[in-house]
Amino acid sequence: MPRRLLILGSTGSIGTQALDILQQSDEFELVGLSAERNWEQLVEQASRLNVKRIAVADRDAGARASEAWTGGEVLVGPEGLVELVVTSGADLVLNALVGSAGLGPTVATLGEGIDLALANKESLVVGGELVTALAEATGAALIPVDSEHTALHQLMAGLPIGAVERLVITASGGPFRGRTRAQLADVTVDEALKHPTWAMGGKITIDSATLMNKGLEVMEAHHLFGTPYEQIDVVVHPQSIVHGLVDLVDGASLAHLGHPDMRIAIAYALHHPDLAPLPSRRLRLEEVGQLTFEPVDLDAFPCLRLARDAAVAGGTAPCVLNAANEIAVHAFLEDRLPFLGIPAVIYETLSSLGSQRVRAFESLYEADREARELAAELVETVAGTTRASSTTFGESPRVVE
Ligand code: MG
Repeated sequence: MPRRLLILGSTGSIGTQALDILQQSDEFELVGLSAERNWEQLVEQASRLNVKRIAVADRDAGARASEAWTGGEVLVGPEGLVELVVTSGADLVLNALVGSAGLGPTVATLGEGIDLALANKESLVVGGELVTALAEATGAALIPVDSEHTALHQLMAGLPIGAVERLVITASGGPFRGRTRAQLADVTVDEALKHPTWAMGGKITIDSATLMNKGLEVMEAHHLFGTPYEQIDVVVHPQSIVHGLVDLVDGASLAHLGHPDMRIAIAYALHHPDLAPLPSRRLRLEEVGQLTFEPVDLDAFPCLRLARDAAVAGGTAPCVLNAANEIAVHAFLEDRLPFLGIPAVIYETLSSLGSQRVRAFESLYEADREARELAAELVETVAGTTRASSTTFGESPRVVE
């Protein structure tokens, strides 16, 4: 029996690579696809792959898809995505949505007891404890689709309890590795979008340039593996060959290596607990020659420290950080905010809203809304002043419980 698979975000970088993988497999039956607003590509995918149900998150785009496509059912809006999850009869959902918009479908998937391949790291950043508790309660599997976490997930499988001393996530360092803070003041969107080793969507590529992506990934690892924050470290590794390390209590370390190729992480999650062959480039260390490592420059890339501060504060702080980051990155991509304005907006949003206790998902949705509103106002004020380059981040943001 093929596994019934639903892909959320099928027109993005992860989604299209997942469809490539599926072409080489007869183990899956596609029961639904979704997109944010690229309805033309979504309809093309559905027609080509004989999928009868699609969802479009953007209402205008969804309305156009409904008019244009007669091949099946079109669900519209964020609630349309959730309905697709709940009524699709899927055995496995690949959540490749961008940003905290992925949280609702993650909750719907796990709430139904459906296994989840999770590329939307913001679901765990924002909803961490509640999301993992939900998976535990319903018995649904939660498998990461993120090269570093795929590495750690694979390395940790089968290790005895108490064997792990520390987790290490590698960072390529992004396009601005080696620059000082002052040298980052005038970088352009095009420069920030030129990632040295990974080809990814726009939002995550900017997150990689600021190193916020690593901050989100530290939180993702904490929730996936239950590891305390002081036992999760980040090291810069420009070649992106080593994806993650697990230090053991006896002094040995396990590493996961491979050429950077997201299809390996996607296929791992889709086939878990099995492992399927993939025609990817094979690693030959004598061809690679050198692997180098260096510490993170937290002065030039304060986003990683802001993320750690928010993570340790807990409560709504990670949700606020994430919402402010999404607004700031969006503004940067539209040339409305300088690069250094991204950490400035996040810092001020966090300092102003602090952290509240999270009792239910509703408190997260509320914190997300509030942080987005404030961050949008701050984009206007920060962009018009020199605050972007003068914020010192000398102190942690005032996040209090
Ligand atoms: Mg990653």
